[in-house]
Amino acid sequence: MKTKRFLVIAIAIVIGASAVALAKDWRSGIAWTEPKAVTPSETLGGAPSDAIVLFDGKNTSEWDNESWKVVDDTMIVGKRDNKTKKKFGSFQLHIEFAVPANDKNGQGAGNSGVYLGSQYEVQILDSYKDPSGSKPKITYFDGQCGSIYKQRPPQVNACRKGGEWQSYDIIFNRPKLQIENGKVVKVIRPAYITVFQNGVLIINHHELEGSTAYEHPPKYEPHEELLPILLQDHGAPIKFKNIWIREIQDDNTKPKQEREPYFN
Ligand code: MG
Repeated sequence: MKTKRFLVIAIAIVIGASAVALAKDWRSGIAWTEPKAVTPSETLGGAPSDAIVLFDGKNTSEWDNESWKVVDDTMIVGKRDNKTKKKFGSFQLHIEFAVPANDKNGQGAGNSGVYLGSQYEVQILDSYKDPSGSKPKITYFDGQCGSIYKQRPPQVNACRKGGEWQSYDIIFNRPKLQIENGKVVKVIRPAYITVFQNGVLIINHHELEGSTAYEHPPKYEPHEELLPILLQDHGAPIKFKNIWIREIQDDNTKPKQEREPYFN
């Protein structure tokens, strides 16, 4: 009888100890700082409270090319490329654009582009594909709208028709380059890019192979850590509106902190 009672007590102790262990809360050991409060926009696609507004439909003072005029609350491609006066590292960029309705094919069908740091282009083009397939636009896939020019086509074609407004939401993690005597001697960390077009994921954390030149293979070229955003003049009257940007943290740039995960 005593043995039985002892067994019951022992089991109760084990169960109790296990329950206490399970109730303990795992912590990573990192002393995180409190995330700062950001107020989202009341309108879809609008700038949150911590964004830098690059174009609000009126004011082009954030841009360095005065030949890009404002017409009906949109900024239209002028002569030569247009870049921001401010420079950025890693960021989240929202931009809306409309290519003109046209019956052209190839790279002449409403070409422009959003350059990240003047080096890395997300292509803008009229690449609308009729779901029936009756009037597909013709160009090489890694040069169509939403492509990382000459490196990767979009995963899907999420284009709207020429003349209709579209959006890009771009997340860019800048590269970390070791530069000596004006040359890149080591790519410490490549750049990564994610793109949503009209709310559809088209580029998923893609590792950039370097700048997106049209006449030579991609390679990392020396550049400053912070660079402007550049919109391309490729001879077509592309319209832009509602452009804003948020500077973001690179989670993967900091060395692993010394830490000991623990329970408390
Ligand atoms: Mg282009």
